[in-house]
Order: sequence, then C-alpha cells, then structure tokens
Amino acid sequence: MTDNSAAAAPRAMRINIGIIGCRNAGKSSLINALCGQEVAIVSPQAGTTTDAVAKPYELLPLGPVTFFDTAGLDDEGELGQQRIKATRRVLAKADLALLTVGAQGLLLADKTYVAELKELNIPFAVVFNKTDLAKPTQADLDWLAKQNVPFVCASAAKNINIDQVKQMLVSLAPTELKADPLLAGDLFAKGDIVVLVVPIDFSAPKGRLILPQVQVLREILDRGARGVIAKETELAAMLNDLKRQPALVITDSQAIKKVAAIVPPEIPLTTFSILFARAKGDLNTLCAGAKAIDNLRDGSRVLIAEACSHHVLSDDIGKVKIPNWLRQYTGKDLRFEFCQGSDFPEDLEQFSLVVHCGACMLNRTEMVHRLNECTRRGVPMANYGVVISKTQGILDRVLSPFKLK
Ligand code: SF4
Repeated sequence: MTDNSAAAAPRAMRINIGIIGCRNAGKSSLINALCGQEVAIVSPQAGTTTDAVAKPYELLPLGPVTFFDTAGLDDEGELGQQRIKATRRVLAKADLALLTVGAQGLLLADKTYVAELKELNIPFAVVFNKTDLAKPTQADLDWLAKQNVPFVCASAAKNINIDQVKQMLVSLAPTELKADPLLAGDLFAKGDIVVLVVPIDFSAPKGRLILPQVQVLREILDRGARGVIAKETELAAMLNDLKRQPALVITDSQAIKKVAAIVPPEIPLTTFSILFARAKGDLNTLCAGAKAIDNLRDGSRVLIAEACSHHVLSDDIGKVKIPNWLRQYTGKDLRFEFCQGSDFPEDLEQFSLVVHCGACMLNRTEMVHRLNECTRRGVPMANYGVVISKTQGILDRVLSPFKLK
C-alpha cells in the first residue's frame, strides 16, 4: 500500500514551521485549527517536557510541512528557561514562523522575538489569534507596520480566517522552498544513463537502501533518465556491459578510491555526500573549510558532528574512519570530539575544524544555520564527502561535475 500521508515524507524533506508566542496566545489551538483537528496536541507529560511538539501536515501547494508547537516565550523558572532553549532549537531549523499573539496584544517578549526572527532571517508573520475576544490595537498595528511585519487577524477557537493564515504561510515561503529540491538532476539529461555505486558491507542497513540513494534514484526516474546500480565489486563488469557511456557515476564516499580507479577519467564522477553538501548547504563553503585540513597541527581539536545517532560499529565512519584518514593525511596528533542529533556546541571557537555528516536527515535550513554559526565564529566546516575525497586525494575529480566559484 502506498502511503501518501504528510507523516510519511522524510523529516528532511518537510518544511518546518515554528509556532511561537507567549503563554496563552493559543499556539496549540492554532496548530489544531490549521490541521483541522479538534484534539489538542499535548506532550506526554504536560508542562514538564522541554521538547517542542511536532505535528506533520500537508499544506498545499507547499507540500509536507511540520508545525512545531513551542513553549511560551515568557515562560518562567528553571524549567521555563529550558523550554525557551528548546524553542530556540526549533528556530534553528524553522523555514517559516508564526508569532502568535493573544488577546492582550503584543507583549515585550513578542517584540524581542520579532527582532530575533529578523536576525535569523526566518520569514514570519504575526497572527492575532483571539480576535473574537479582542481586536488588535492601533498601536500594535502601527508598530508592526514600522517593522514591516505582515499579520493576520484570526481566531483558532472560532475557526475565523484560518485559511488566510495558511495563505500567509504559502506567500511567506521563499521560492527555493516551493521548488523541487535538486540533488543531481542538473548533471544529466533525459535518456542518459546514471550509475549508482552502493557498497553492501556490514555497515549497510539490512534490507534497504539509505535515504540519499533512494532520493537520487527517484530524481533519475522523475527526469526520464535511466538509473543502473551496482556494488563497487560489480562496477567494472557493469560498465563493460553498458552499450553507452554513462553521463554520471555517483558513489558512496567510502568506496571513492576504488571507484575512481575503475571509472575512466572522461566519465564525470561524484559522491552522494558531495551532492548532499551542495543541496543541503553550500558546497563552496564546505570545500573552503576542507582547506583548513592542511593547517591542522598536533593537538588541534576537530569536531565530528552527526545529525542523528546510531549504533557505533568497530569501523564507524565518523568515530573511526574519518579520524584515521585525517591523522594519516596530516601526520598530526589530532584531538577528536563528537556530537550527535540536535546537539551542536555553542563554544565552537575551540575547534580548528568541524566535519559534518551528509545531513540527509536535516532540512537545508538547519544545515545552513550550522554552517553560518561556524562561519560567524571563524571556524571552518567541511562535510564527510569533501573530507573523505580530500584525504584520498580525489577531491578535484569529484568536484569536476560542478561549476564552483
Ligand atoms: S548521521 Fe548524518 S548522514 Fe548519517 S544518516 Fe544521520 S543525518 Fe544522514
């Protein structure tokens, strides 16, 4: 059975919408009204959880979105501060935001968050949510006009103007959010052959392909090209069997050295990680970050950041292989530290280099936010694909299919 529900869309492909506002602004009711649900969204332990509650929804024509219900911006006490921290984590990955305002009108905390949302460059609007009880004051409307912030007057409780709130979200979304994400589709044409190389070793998940491989395969099908797939051990025979030269070969980064030795130099070759570095962040910046590898010294601290957690294997890519390749390449005694999931350290300045995973489970906004944080603090960031290819001496080759600055 095909599951077309919004919940079935991979997390990284959904548009994240942060619903923020003070306590009693009616944020949960607004999400329920937007999703057309009567049931209140509650955390498993109401009032004690510090994590934002996520609600997937299909918001046409944008597609699958996730609404994040957050703690009140004016929350108090130690737990309140933790909840506000969780709200800030939501903002770090929010593509869009709605600042929900209750019957009391704009409060100081709302105005502070207007400034913060602007600084974070998140498109947002204000929703006056309880206009059945109190209309917004002229002073509030004048203040928003001065700040150039759009607003909607609505009531989640009475289901007033909820469609206008949805239309506002659609109009706030930047063009790149409305367009289909592009991984490799500009590197081949209709009818071309694209070869995917997928090693099946004991670290490959049982019985399935991983998300980057599935997404690239889908893009090949969408564009009317022909995808062929093989393990690196079958690649030479497979290329030999093809009657036409492939337009592109895409390999798992870990097999790049073997694959580069097999694929003739005239056939464009890249890696899944490089494709994701381009789609999720900024390939130019990540490549510039990789140059910092040449400046590492004995004792340099390197942060390995993975966007999700998994069971660590004996030759784990992040914990074992990349540290070993970096030590071998630099000949230096490097110090490695690791973070996983939504943890990303604030004191980034202590690191000489951040090496990020392919970020297939993050949306672009969250990855760009991490990249910007590193840039702002003067810390170079590269990703797995770029680092692996550089330490194997094949970076120029895997970048050659792209027009880089
Ligand atoms: S660690 Fe990174 S690259 Fe690996 S599956 Fe998670 S998000 Fe994707």
